[in-house]
Amino acid sequence: MLDFLRRYSREQLDSRRMDERRGFQLSLIPDLAEAGLFGVQIPKRYQGRELSHSDTIKVWRQAGAIDCNLLILLAVHNTLGVPPIQQFAREDVRSAVLPELAQGRRLVTSAVSEPSMGSNVRAITSNATKRPDGSYVINGDKQWISLGADAHYVNLFARLTDENGQDAGITGFLVDTSSPGFVRGPEVVTLGLKAVPQNSLSLENVHVPAEGLLGEEGKGLVAAKTAFTQGRLMLASGALGAAMRALEMAQRFARRREVATGNLAENGRIQQIIAESVAATQAVEMLVEHMTDLLDSGREVPEPFYFAAKILGCELMWQVVDRCLQLLGARGFVDTNVVGQFYRDYRLFRIFEGSTEAITVYLGSTILKHPQRFFSIFDDFDVDPKLAEHVSRIDKLTTTTTTGGQQRHILASQVGELACWAILSVLTAEGRHRSSMYSHTASWSEQQLLDKLRVAEDSKPFVELPTVDELARHIGEFELSIGNVEQRRPGIQHDLDLLLRRG
Ligand SMILES: Cc1cc2nc3c(=O)[nH]c(=O)nc-3n(C[C@H](O)[C@H](O)[C@H](O)COP(=O)(O)OP(=O)(O)OC[C@H]3O[C@@H](n4cnc5c(N)ncnc54)[C@H](O)[C@@H]3O)c2cc1C
Repeated sequence: MLDFLRRYSREQLDSRRMDERRGFQLSLIPDLAEAGLFGVQIPKRYQGRELSHSDTIKVWRQAGAIDCNLLILLAVHNTLGVPPIQQFAREDVRSAVLPELAQGRRLVTSAVSEPSMGSNVRAITSNATKRPDGSYVINGDKQWISLGADAHYVNLFARLTDENGQDAGITGFLVDTSSPGFVRGPEVVTLGLKAVPQNSLSLENVHVPAEGLLGEEGKGLVAAKTAFTQGRLMLASGALGAAMRALEMAQRFARRREVATGNLAENGRIQQIIAESVAATQAVEMLVEHMTDLLDSGREVPEPFYFAAKILGCELMWQVVDRCLQLLGARGFVDTNVVGQFYRDYRLFRIFEGSTEAITVYLGSTILKHPQRFFSIFDDFDVDPKLAEHVSRIDKLTTTTTTGGQQRHILASQVGELACWAILSVLTAEGRHRSSMYSHTASWSEQQLLDKLRVAEDSKPFVELPTVDELARHIGEFELSIGNVEQRRPGIQHDLDLLLRRG
């Protein structure tokens, strides 16, 4: 698969064209399907390739290094779409659906987000009503659904009302998009990832048979979590590929470029930027490899590791891409250069499948509630005493007194972020003897942890923030400086003229 993707990138793929035309080239889906790339982890008995987790992240890293659109096309289907079906659908449904998904004859996506909710999954308003015959009727609106207008199946999450009219909780359903009442809405125009369409979807009395249930009634978040955890590993691995490719370019340029101080690569500040970027890349790589080693050996991955992969994997890798763009100077700002496209495309990774702020606060809040549950994840490691001392300072922070919800959110965010750095520091410290580069990565991670600890400790007592009303009033006055410049000129009309429509 890796060979296929590399050859395909060199000989067939035209990322520039897909970006400009906002769509995939025609041959892409059948070509990827033939290479087995739509059934990466689907078991062989359902005609998939049944790759291990360690091999799968290599595929995501490879795809990510080529084109974010390619990665997300494969990943939405393989990590958000397939796992809930593989783990939670009935066997007769699995035998019918998984082979067609594995062969790429049909695509599957996942619909969680709605106009009124994104990060807060518990606020889902789409409604499923159970009928006396055991089937369900779904109504609601979904938004931002990748491949929403193209997928044949959608794993859809809705709030269930049971036979007695009682709220039975969020429930997952496998919805066939050719069902009557399933309405595909328009595509949004996004900043990056332009070839992957995101559509709104409306469900108007869509009938789902009893066998369309994913898992148990009211336990939809368990099925959704399966997709999120796989998705978070995928995002970190894909972003890693992008960072590696951006660094390759930055390195080539720096070695060839002469500036006022001599060779650019030999300028101390530039050397520092490249060294930090390489350390970040290596640290994230060690994290995802550690996680997939655990998964492949049948052991459980502690949940905070998934958060660390999503938060630091996506934040750091996008930062590396940004730094490489800066290092390339004017060439970085040229849109036909891969790094510029990565900068737009990978920006998304900080937002979707759990935006950084939302999940950092969530992780921190869970640690504040049960600190020892979090700190016990380090029992499996031989943590050196100095590092253990840093980690214990996070524990001390969890006892900070807060007044009011806002301070609690800030503290949770600090603790969540520190927890991710603690994980990265402990993991990279274990590998520090492998080579001088690994040793540098371990020291860099530890330094990051120390810097963040110092900032968190120095920010106590909390600085008093302006009130929400004061902020709104102040920002409201900006209009005195910049005026009302909202553009009202009518755009292009796309709707079919009323006199030309059917009926
Ligand atoms: C290109 C693209 C593809 C997508 N594909 C899909 C898809 O296939 N399926 C799907 O279901 N969804 C998809 N989404 C939706 C995506 O998952 C959501 O946009 C994302 O979860 C964020 O939700 P939101 O936009 O409603 O932002 P909100 O949840 O409203 O968040 C707004 C801001 O508030 C912050 N915030 C939110 N909660 C907290 C908190 N508790 N503490 C502190 N800060 C917080 C966030 O970090 C963010 O900065 C896609 C989105 C995009 C842009």
